Amino acid sequence: MLTASCDCGTVNVSVPRKPRTLTNCNCSMCRRYGVLWAYYKDSEVQLDAPEGAIDRYDWGRKSQDFIRCKTCGCVMQWKKKEVGPKTWTGVNARNFSPEAIGKAKILLLDGADTWKYIKWSAPPSEA
Ligand SMILES: [Zn+2]
Repeated sequence: MLTASCDCGTVNVSVPRKPRTLTNCNCSMCRRYGVLWAYYKDSEVQLDAPEGAIDRYDWGRKSQDFIRCKTCGCVMQWKKKEVGPKTWTGVNARNFSPEAIGKAKILLLDGADTWKYIKWSAPPSEA
C-alpha cells in the first residue's frame, strides 16, 4: 500500500500499489494545478480526512470533484460524483514520496482539446 499525504498531513489518500504511469494533462484545470494523475479504480482508493478538512471544486459538466486539503491547499484527488464498480479516479501523484513515483513513465494527455495521449515534443532548438 502507498499513501499520498498533503503538506500539512491532514488529508491522506491510500492506494494499493505504486503507479506505473502518470498523466500530465493540459486541460484548463490540470495545467493550473500542476498535478500528475495516477489512475485507480475508485473502490481501490481510500480517502482519509477529518470531518470538514477538505474542499471540493465542481468541474466540467459538474460530474466530478477536485478534492483538496482546506488547510494547506494541496490537490489530492479527482473523483466522480456518482461511483459504480467500474468508475476510475485520479490521485495526485505529486503527493506520493518522490521515491514512489521515480520510475513511473509520464504520459502527456491533451485534455485541452483532443483527449488523446500525445508524445513529448522537444522544445524547438534555438539554432
Ligand atoms: Zn493539508
